[in-house]
Amino acid sequence: MNNKTGSDEDKHPPLHRRGLLLVLSSPSGAGKTTLSRALLDREPNIHLSVSVTTRPPRPGEQHGKDYFFHTKAEFEAMRDAGGLLEWAPVFDHLYGTPRPAVETLLEAGNDILFDIDWQGAQQLSEKLAGDVVRVFVLPPSVATLEQRLRDRAQDSDDVVARRMHAASDEISHWAEYDYVIVNHDVTTSLKGLESILAAERLKRERLLGLGAFVRDLQKNL
Ligand code: 5GP
Repeated sequence: MNNKTGSDEDKHPPLHRRGLLLVLSSPSGAGKTTLSRALLDREPNIHLSVSVTTRPPRPGEQHGKDYFFHTKAEFEAMRDAGGLLEWAPVFDHLYGTPRPAVETLLEAGNDILFDIDWQGAQQLSEKLAGDVVRVFVLPPSVATLEQRLRDRAQDSDDVVARRMHAASDEISHWAEYDYVIVNHDVTTSLKGLESILAAERLKRERLLGLGAFVRDLQKNL
């Protein structure tokens, strides 16, 4: 057996990890946005993909932080030029993921968080299958869902009623996801989400150079 020192270990071929795409979907009001903001606060190595939308900003929302707010014509021009990785109509408006930002972050080995609906999750999974980790967030009850939509107090009664109706459609896609979190409280859900992220980051397929690294380890045994 070779008696190797700590400094020799540094000479093994480098290990890199492929960035992953963590997709969070849920019916509107299930607490997904709060959860994703909490994750971003705690995890410096994951970046939010800021979507483009034709929806008008809600009070307090900022262009470039919450969304890139654009007209329908601007959105369609971006989409037709291939600038969107995925896009979908949601509640009378168009939403999409800008492609260049995602590509730049992935190439640099970063993880990216997506707050997008089931249509976007499907499209990302088709395009980047092995890199996508899908998490569906469920409300603990219908009453909680409605209360959260009302507490948000930023949408009219009519919008709240329509979002309640749409919740059923969104929820019907739960089985297309890798993980499901029932969001009773943010603290517990955040722990679950962080555990998912930690485990997914350790997946063998995401570690580049692992074969060479292990062969080198064996060579020295
Ligand atoms: P909201 O208008 O409440 O911000 O978002 C409405 C829905 O659109 C949410 O379910 C949200 O996840 C989804 N959404 C936001 N951005 C995108 C996107 O870029 N692509 C897709 N497919 N859905 C999105």
